[in-house]
Amino acid sequence: MAGIDTDVVHGGREDLRTLGVHAPPLDRSTTYPVTSLAAGTEDLERLAEGDAAPEHSPVYARLFNPTVARWERGIAGLERAEGAVAFSSGMAAVTATLIAAGAIGRHVVAIRPLYGGTDHLLSSGLLGTRTTWTTPASVGDAIEPDTALVIVETPGNPTLTLVDIAAVVAQAGPVPVLVDNTFATPILQQPLTLGATWSLHSATKALGGHGDVIAGVVATDQAHAAALRRVRVATGALLDPQAAALLHRSLQTLALRVRAAQANATELARRLARHPGVERVCHPSLPGCDPEGIVAAQMQGPGGMLTFDVVGGLTAAGRVMEGVRLLTPAVSLGNNDTLIEHPAGLTHRVVDPEALASARIGPGLLRVSVGIEDVDDLWRDLAQAIDAATGLAGGTSQPVVERCTAGVGLQA
Ligand SMILES: *Cc1c(COP(=O)(O)O)cnc(C)c1O
Repeated sequence: MAGIDTDVVHGGREDLRTLGVHAPPLDRSTTYPVTSLAAGTEDLERLAEGDAAPEHSPVYARLFNPTVARWERGIAGLERAEGAVAFSSGMAAVTATLIAAGAIGRHVVAIRPLYGGTDHLLSSGLLGTRTTWTTPASVGDAIEPDTALVIVETPGNPTLTLVDIAAVVAQAGPVPVLVDNTFATPILQQPLTLGATWSLHSATKALGGHGDVIAGVVATDQAHAAALRRVRVATGALLDPQAAALLHRSLQTLALRVRAAQANATELARRLARHPGVERVCHPSLPGCDPEGIVAAQMQGPGGMLTFDVVGGLTAAGRVMEGVRLLTPAVSLGNNDTLIEHPAGLTHRVVDPEALASARIGPGLLRVSVGIEDVDDLWRDLAQAIDAATGLAGGTSQPVVERCTAGVGLQA
């Protein structure tokens, strides 16, 4: 197994030399010549059963696409997984995983906070699941004989709450655990090495990184990957090969991008913590945000996402979003450029208001997806927007690092 910096560059490109090309070819075929009926029938049957690749012919593009499969192999390598299965969006990946886990008509244990869309999918019962919302410490108590899986996200969205994955896996016992690894990326965290069964990504975020692809992917072992492929063949939430080609290209710079964004986020968090217009800052690099030392235990760094509460609540938060010039006021995350958004009003609008309040996703909370720009330019823009929104100019107040309280769990 190569180092992760080698894997991002070379992953999924093993067959290129044999093919006599240097860049992964983009195969847009929807159907493929079947030159032997017997071989075609066999391929079709095996792919529908979840095989990773055909023996002779893909037969039809809903069964297999080589451009998509190359990117999947790249992701599997980074996640130290036996396989990875790509989908048309992160939510399609969540849905397929719930179906493949047999969760329809059954019980799910979920730890809040989760991505707003996942929270909504579970709490609405749209797929026929029944969910118990719990905290990391109470996973064991929440498990029932009929529990199909446990779902956790760390760092959590948007509070950046950190969860000890190995501890959750231990409490879950025989019940498989799904980790939404979107915020960490496989550069910073590899949940399968901590005992999780699935590591899921909205590839729309850092894996894509350029804000021009919507996609999802799940890394897992051979048997669970086959189950996911069976669901994908049957339900059809495919990743388009053009999108897969862009994602495979983006993969080569993933480690560089993640580390550059992380360095900027660490510095911005430090500066925000000293701004008098800021009540509270959360970034896993701040000691108050990681009291249990989870970053050191299971991550290779604190990541590029941060949140802060601006003095003056909703009005001031709205003004900060309207006042930034270099930052883009927008949802989504993990792009090369820096985005700022208001979780209570946008990404987490669909979450139960009481659950929001107990997680301290308050009216003044802003979430920043830090990009790879010059950190001084980012700070200048953010500081002028906060100065103007709060009437409190930045500079020399007491650091508020100690008041950081990401660690507050969401209850049902
Ligand atoms: C965006 C996101 C999703 C959903 O992904 P889509 O690609 O938008 O469908 C799921 N989980 C997390 C953590 C996300 O940020």
